[in-house]
Amino acid sequence: MSGGSQQPPPRPKPKRAALSKKLQVRMFRRDGWLCRWCRRPVIFAPAMKYLARFMQEQGHKGLLAYWSSAYRRDASPLLDELAAAVDHVTAFSAGGAHDESNFVTACYKCNTRKSASSSDEFHKKYPPPPPVKGMYGEPKTWDGFSALFIVLARQNRSDLTRSETEWLEALEVSTVSDPQHLDAGLLSDNSGGELP
Ligand SMILES: [Zn+2]
Repeated sequence: MSGGSQQPPPRPKPKRAALSKKLQVRMFRRDGWLCRWCRRPVIFAPAMKYLARFMQEQGHKGLLAYWSSAYRRDASPLLDELAAAVDHVTAFSAGGAHDESNFVTACYKCNTRKSASSSDEFHKKYPPPPPVKGMYGEPKTWDGFSALFIVLARQNRSDLTRSETEWLEALEVSTVSDPQHLDAGLLSDNSGGELP
């Protein structure tokens, strides 16, 4: 049997599917891996998949709610909130340009909420938090766990999906000075205790 017997139902294509991975990586890096709308740090989702795998390989037993393909809240709460996406400032459906001048980094929550509304409407509904006034300011080297993905993906090269291979290439190609980032972020946010 080679062909499938069922036609999958047509699905609406997410608009970001049309953007190349290299372009998306450029946008994430340009914006410092911070959401343009709520200013929260975003996360490169595939990193979480390989982090979960790493934990299993280290002998961790039990489910980890690090990653799910649909960013389900129950199975991957961080991604449900913070998975990195590229958003149009002016919605494409409202005539916004489909180029870098109109693209911004958004967290998954804002990207979902914003949908086709204009920036103004969206800001009225979900006003952005006030600028960070902490002593140290905004993060300068946050990378959305993208360096973590590079490290783990290189260790799992034969298991990568085509899409993940393209992500790896995009992250490697457009990396200007990433070696210093490689030791940042690893597991630092995990204090344990997510287990059922
Ligand atoms: Zn956001």
